[in-house]
Amino acid sequence: MTLSAAGACTTVPVIDPATGAVWEETPLTPPAEVQSIVERARRAQPTWASRPYAERQAAISRFSRLFFARRQEIAALVSRENGKPLAEALLIDVAVTLDLVKYYLHHAGRFLAPRPVRHANVALFGKSGKIYLEPLGVIGVIAPWNYPLLLPMGDIVPALLAGNAVVFKPSEFTSRIAVQVVDLLHQAGVPEDCCRVVAGYAETGVALVDAGPDKIFFTGSVATGRKVAVQAAERLIPVNLELGGSDPCIVLADADLDRALSGVIWGRFTNGGQTCVAVKRLIVEAPVYAGFLERLVERVRALRMGPGLMPEVDMGPMIRPSQLAHLEDQLSRALAHGARVLTGGRRRPDLGPTFFEPTVVTDVGPDSPLWREEVFGPILPVVRATDAEDAVRLANNSDFGLAASVWTRDLAQGRDLARRIEAGAVMVNDAASYVGAVGAPHGGVKLSGLGRTHGEFGITEVTRPKYVDIDRLTWLHKPWWFGYTRESLAGRDAFLRFKFGGTLLERLGGIAGTVRLLFNRRKI
Ligand code: NAD
Repeated sequence: MTLSAAGACTTVPVIDPATGAVWEETPLTPPAEVQSIVERARRAQPTWASRPYAERQAAISRFSRLFFARRQEIAALVSRENGKPLAEALLIDVAVTLDLVKYYLHHAGRFLAPRPVRHANVALFGKSGKIYLEPLGVIGVIAPWNYPLLLPMGDIVPALLAGNAVVFKPSEFTSRIAVQVVDLLHQAGVPEDCCRVVAGYAETGVALVDAGPDKIFFTGSVATGRKVAVQAAERLIPVNLELGGSDPCIVLADADLDRALSGVIWGRFTNGGQTCVAVKRLIVEAPVYAGFLERLVERVRALRMGPGLMPEVDMGPMIRPSQLAHLEDQLSRALAHGARVLTGGRRRPDLGPTFFEPTVVTDVGPDSPLWREEVFGPILPVVRATDAEDAVRLANNSDFGLAASVWTRDLAQGRDLARRIEAGAVMVNDAASYVGAVGAPHGGVKLSGLGRTHGEFGITEVTRPKYVDIDRLTWLHKPWWFGYTRESLAGRDAFLRFKFGGTLLERLGGIAGTVRLLFNRRKI
């Protein structure tokens, strides 16, 4: 990191997690400058919003082409900065980002189109009402490092298409990729002040909330999300919180076990186990538990570790030594609670400073740290369930509720269990990959967060509905206006009989009084 003459940091180091070496520096946005960046965004936003939707759409479409043309370079940067295998950077980070952009280019215009409100009340005859989705103004996006592109872009793209400006605070671990991608948005025609990166540490995030954007989209840990929510609440700023998870995965005895093994292992160890919707608690039905566990251990041992940029690597390093130390602390506390490591459980300093072996653990009780806390690294605890009912009970025994998975050949049972698991999304016969289904809502229940991103819900979260009501019966004195008389009171009751009467006769009996009410002579 570079220091100014006054001794303050002026850059954020870009570190390769595989080696721990700094290979570049990103200019740091001093927290004191964040306020003026948000103000500039606020001044630029109305012009951006007043452009025809087709112009904003064309800019995002140009961005999509630029991004696609540089996909290899972007994937390599994600892999180098984050440590994940290049294969994952390309087919997840890059591909899902492209898919998100494509999805919104196709659908956002329809989602944003004004929609009529049908009035069921005869008293409102002659009125036509429409809902217009208006941009909120300036959106603050605070992002984590584990999917440094697809998560923030899931907020930024719909926000820009809807006419908002965005100020984006990436993780201090992945600021380089953020700068590069926002640069592509500028090249594509998004005005610079309408999408700005503020690179830095926690203080920069605090400064962004302090600057008073119109909404905060925070993705990260529960602990930080809680701080952001409290700070935002002081200013009555709405927040969308995409927080941690401890996703259960239920394998029933009738499942295709071979396929389930592949899905579970990928679902746990993809991105080095550092995925919000990873399989974090594996629950296997008793009749197949022992055999499944044996094959699980055998296959996990076959995973190849190394730097993400090497094409044949399955699992890269963890992002930073502090994350690895936290994981080891969770494991040692779990071992003190009686857990047993079946494979893995060790650092691999021979590979680099933050490599940790893919690990399978059993004898994990409901009070174990591996069950109660989010485990953000390559450790998979496995427990036995007596039957499907027991499995659902175990799955719901958690403070988190992000996503979940169920493996069974009985799809009706799979759907039934999915409906009973407390989570924002549940996959049957697959795990974690639903985040790539960009039309589906993403977000959690319980401690896993508030609000949704992706799909139509993603547009709803970056807009506010405005209702515009036009009255075409301009000659009519409204019966609810002043001019109250004894007769009009009777007319009002007649109207209630006409509208809500229990029998046809009662309703017909209200018609004459209702008509008299319309022609009430006393007007004010
Ligand atoms: P984190 O909470 O440490 O940091 C997230 C972001 O918040 C970073 O940009 C950080 O600089 C910033 N920040 C830190 N302190 C802040 C403060 N006081 N005010 C404002 N901003 C502040 O999380 P992380 O380690 O980057 O990411 C891992 C966590 O994110 C895991 O818990 C994971 O489950 C979660 N996550 C959730 C989702 C989801 O969609 N639900 C997706 C990815 C990651």
